[in-house]
Amino acid sequence: MAAFAHVAIDGPAGSGKTTVARALSRRLGILHLDTGAMYRALALAALELGVPVDDEAAILRLARAKPIGVVLDERSPDGFRIRIGEREVGAELYRNEVSTIVSVVAAYPGVREIMVDRQRAIAREGPVVMAGRDIGTVVMPDAPVKIFLTASLEARVARRLAELAQQGTSVDRVELRAQMEERDHLDIHRAASPLQPAPGSIAIDSTDLSVDDVVDRIAAAADAAVPKR
Ligand code: C5P
Repeated sequence: MAAFAHVAIDGPAGSGKTTVARALSRRLGILHLDTGAMYRALALAALELGVPVDDEAAILRLARAKPIGVVLDERSPDGFRIRIGEREVGAELYRNEVSTIVSVVAAYPGVREIMVDRQRAIAREGPVVMAGRDIGTVVMPDAPVKIFLTASLEARVARRLAELAQQGTSVDRVELRAQMEERDHLDIHRAASPLQPAPGSIAIDSTDLSVDDVVDRIAAAADAAVPKR
């Protein structure tokens, strides 16, 4: 896997991974996948079909019955497209109802196995900027560039509020803050592939940095790790 110039970006909710990963993929001219969208798609499918999220066996059956499809597509706005079975999904993945349950679904080891297999298969195809929670630790530990992106909770809440406002959704700041804290707690403390910095990863605190600043730093790290031939 290390044969490709992969970039692994991990970090908590709202740390800027998605925006940074997309911009970086454009800068480096390589594909991009935000793996959170895959877990969100499964959570959305559970919501739509009324599968209780705390029923691990039922969620696993759902993950097998309605495989989450991924197509990396440079021309699409996100750089990738996600399907639940045959149906393509997009903005609905970021609905608040999905955000409140996704970390429960993502904690199940059987679910992670299915998603990680798919992500590794994608990484075998060619260089990719992949963002998530376990990319540097589990999915592609041999990636030449591994980033752990953080930001203060206040900055992360503010970014998420702005994103939601742009989509025409207004949520209560206090509620959103509590939800993000809970999601981080679940992601950090779960038994299977908890969120933690990968060995050899570069930590970047984006609280006071612009997207361009963060992209510059990662691009420089990528240049140093994978010298141009
Ligand atoms: O990145 P995003 O906030 O969209 O991710 C949604 C959720 O999916 C995370 O809170 C986490 O529970 C889960 N996730 C994960 N592993 C990844 C990516 C996301 O467990 N690689």
